[in-house]
Amino acid sequence: MDAIVTETLQDRRARLLGPNMSTFYDEPVHLVRGEGARLWDADGREYLDCYNNVPHVGHCHPVVVQAICDQAGTLNTHTRYLHEGILDYVEALTATFGPNLDTALMCCTGSEANDVALRMAQALTGKTGVIATDHTYHGNTTAVHQLSRSNPPPGGYWDNVGFVPAPDSYRPLGGEAGMAHARAFAAEVEKQIAVLEEKGCGFSTLILCPFFANEGFPDLPAGWLDPTVEVVRRAGGVVIADEVQPGFGRLGTHFWGHEKIGFTPDIVTIGKPMANGHPVAAVVAPRDTMEQFRSNFRYFNTFGGNPVSCAAAMATLRVVQEENLQANAADVGAYAKSGLQELAKRHECIGDVRGSGLFFGAEMVLDRTTREPATAFTKQVANGMRQRGVLLNFLGRHYNVLKMRPPMVFSRANVDQVIETLDTVLAETPLA
Ligand code: PMP
Repeated sequence: MDAIVTETLQDRRARLLGPNMSTFYDEPVHLVRGEGARLWDADGREYLDCYNNVPHVGHCHPVVVQAICDQAGTLNTHTRYLHEGILDYVEALTATFGPNLDTALMCCTGSEANDVALRMAQALTGKTGVIATDHTYHGNTTAVHQLSRSNPPPGGYWDNVGFVPAPDSYRPLGGEAGMAHARAFAAEVEKQIAVLEEKGCGFSTLILCPFFANEGFPDLPAGWLDPTVEVVRRAGGVVIADEVQPGFGRLGTHFWGHEKIGFTPDIVTIGKPMANGHPVAAVVAPRDTMEQFRSNFRYFNTFGGNPVSCAAAMATLRVVQEENLQANAADVGAYAKSGLQELAKRHECIGDVRGSGLFFGAEMVLDRTTREPATAFTKQVANGMRQRGVLLNFLGRHYNVLKMRPPMVFSRANVDQVIETLDTVLAETPLA
């Protein structure tokens, strides 16, 4: 009898989509269904989603699903017709920002939003120099790929790009945490501004995530960015806050990451959680910035702000507000952090516990005194959690920070499951 050759989903994926299509975990998960903070794989196995900040208000939230279906069954079109959907949404969205950030440009991905933001900064300053941290990610267009240190662009970096050391509250630049660290960071930005001026492109913008999500979400006090913002503005530049990860109430204390750290950005970019998984993103800016941009660049986006996308985004925002999910993030996030702190009493590998709201985690070390990163161990722990039905991941400057960023409907009971599972996995994973 002929052998039955079955191609795995992974092989099929590589054959059809090409190699290097990244998946999480040594044994990738094949998901087929989701509800709230729960997911199910093709074999019917249940997982707790502790990472995915796209389904912000929970997987398949019925209000969002209904809004998408209703609008898809009524009208969807490109964005060169008049429609209330985009206007109602931008009105509701900008109401969540301070009074200055009162217009928005809709697009489809965080990468696009950041790409547009860089051009907005150029329109404002007449310069092109961009500064980012050396452990960030702002997306995958040709321009924003230039800002990625961990995934260098094949043709090399452009002359107008400069990097500063990513903030690390556990191993602060200059050795001292808090405002001394803040001033050390600002001094690095100042140095890079001088380099860009010297090169002739001039300095246009500093782009950063105000929660430094990809850098390992360091614990930084309010006011930490003040010296940096001062340096940027003195040099005639602007600050872009990439709120793709911390926004929409996730941090619990504030609706936006820049509010938590205490400054008003010149331009804000948002995406990921904005429409609960539907591809929607935006750039939010003051009206005169938008006008300056529009008179320098002709910009049209076929899908950005279409009626279905706006219905999905509007429903998501309404659910965050009406279900008080920011308050839930504050409560459940604080509970999670104290659970991790309890675990740290029993597990020496936990060097630091940090986070805000439903964006929290722990830094893993081989030795608490030397703070040597436990990079390989952290990866094993993430895989161990997956094997035991809890999906989370790891990142940070040394890829040794367990990162948890669950849907905003996460409950205390969900946290109990995470902490109990982590207790088991930490105990069974060798620290070598
Ligand atoms: N900015 C940040 C901070 C991100 O983390 C990401 C995606 N991980 C992006 C931008 C890019 O967003 P997208 O994948 O939607 O293009």
